[in-house]
Amino acid sequence: MRRLTALPLLLLLAACGARSHLADGLDAGIERPLDAAADAARPDAGERDASADAGPIRPRCARDADCAEGVCRGSIGDPPRDLASIGLFCGAPEPDPSGAPGAPCRERASCDRHLCAIAGACVVPCASDADCDAAELCREVWVTTSPSAMERLTACTARVAAPESVRVAGPEPGPLLDVPAASDVLSDLRPGALVIWRGPTQSEPLIERVLSRTAAMEVLFDAFAPREADAPAPAWGIGAATVREVVTLLHPNGPRSPPPRLGFEVLLSATTPGPSERIVLQRMAPGDALDLDVYLAGGNGWTSRDGAPPPPLTEAVEALREVLAPAGLAIGEVRVHDVVGGLRRRFEMLTGSEGLLGAPPDLPVLYRLSAGARRPAVHVFLVRFIEGALGIASGIPGPHALPGTGASGVAIAADLVESPAHLGLVMAHEIGHFAGLFHTSEADGSVFDPLTDTPECRAENDLDGDGVLVPDECGPFGATNVMFWAGGGRAFSRQQAALLRGAYDVR
Ligand SMILES: [Zn+2]
Repeated sequence: MRRLTALPLLLLLAACGARSHLADGLDAGIERPLDAAADAARPDAGERDASADAGPIRPRCARDADCAEGVCRGSIGDPPRDLASIGLFCGAPEPDPSGAPGAPCRERASCDRHLCAIAGACVVPCASDADCDAAELCREVWVTTSPSAMERLTACTARVAAPESVRVAGPEPGPLLDVPAASDVLSDLRPGALVIWRGPTQSEPLIERVLSRTAAMEVLFDAFAPREADAPAPAWGIGAATVREVVTLLHPNGPRSPPPRLGFEVLLSATTPGPSERIVLQRMAPGDALDLDVYLAGGNGWTSRDGAPPPPLTEAVEALREVLAPAGLAIGEVRVHDVVGGLRRRFEMLTGSEGLLGAPPDLPVLYRLSAGARRPAVHVFLVRFIEGALGIASGIPGPHALPGTGASGVAIAADLVESPAHLGLVMAHEIGHFAGLFHTSEADGSVFDPLTDTPECRAENDLDGDGVLVPDECGPFGATNVMFWAGGGRAFSRQQAALLRGAYDVR
């Protein structure tokens, strides 16, 4: 099998030791379904929520169409059963001012159906996409039912949560993802457009090649091309894969990106065959603020304080704010979401490695907790430990403004981070990747980002000859940049700052 060479040593490490991110082939891993343990769930020992909805026999349902009267809704009175399917029944919705479907929420009582997804929006149950409107997908979401229980259902969730200043084209049908690769033609990309292909949930779409549509059909990118030892900086930085389900292409992402001329032909494959859809994001007006949805999934043992961030997280966000401010980017709202019970125990230690990027198999499952979100934000998941990494961004760039996919966020091993200030720097680094920034220099000094104003630390700086360029060897050559492979820096270049501000979750 051909070996992938153009998944650059890209997204995973912020500062902790070497780890190969190059998978030897295209063999996708097997993902443990999220509901593996669900139906064996037992009643949760935690506190019951408020008072019971006493009353007569309640017709069960999975969606509104199952109800002769009323709507399909949840109940606050049922005993919590961690990891189980939540009980749904037909009944009248709670009266105003309870949240209507899609309204922001922090707890079940805020929603007219008593269904508040952990991503922070009131949801409506569904059995398939046909039960939802065209802008929604019927996906699994989790509702917190006690301080130690979360229960699941399938609900209508927004496909896209983009700022008003962003134009969303699609979804349109994309190519059938399979092996060998199928082609998609991008003929009229506007500057700065982000193209996102979404495949089946378990798929790992891969950009194998990108060709110019000129008569020469020049190969602009080839994920299998041999990489020379001292290859020049890539002209067009392309992250050929993400953790799961989607793949992205941002053009241009630096002054060296090839001009579109007649457009591009993109060859896409996936080892889990299935249809794809294509969404193109284009910015109509500049943005300058980034909201954060932070999921407390065990990291540092943190929990929210009545919905507010724990104090050390506030400190970390302040550090992040200081790093992003010179780039012209403000941190807006910071919303925290407690992951509790069995899900917290499952996600707090992310071990193992599989797939094209060698990511822990539970990582895409964790990212999908963002399903249901309706506001643009970067979703940040704080766990205790990630095998071989301090932080992982799902892709370069990630699927901006698409919550609920297997690549919708960044994860950080909070217990491995030295201090809140350090956590702020790690967040900046991973958010940088998610926005579309590559490492300024990789550890071996042979791969650099596609920008022209970031310093490069080349192999000749490897003074001790150990093959790894550490910050001490790269002081004037990029070690102070946030996106240096080992992290730790505080600076963004002008071109990096422009890419950060252009991310499509920036409002
Ligand atoms: Zn990195």
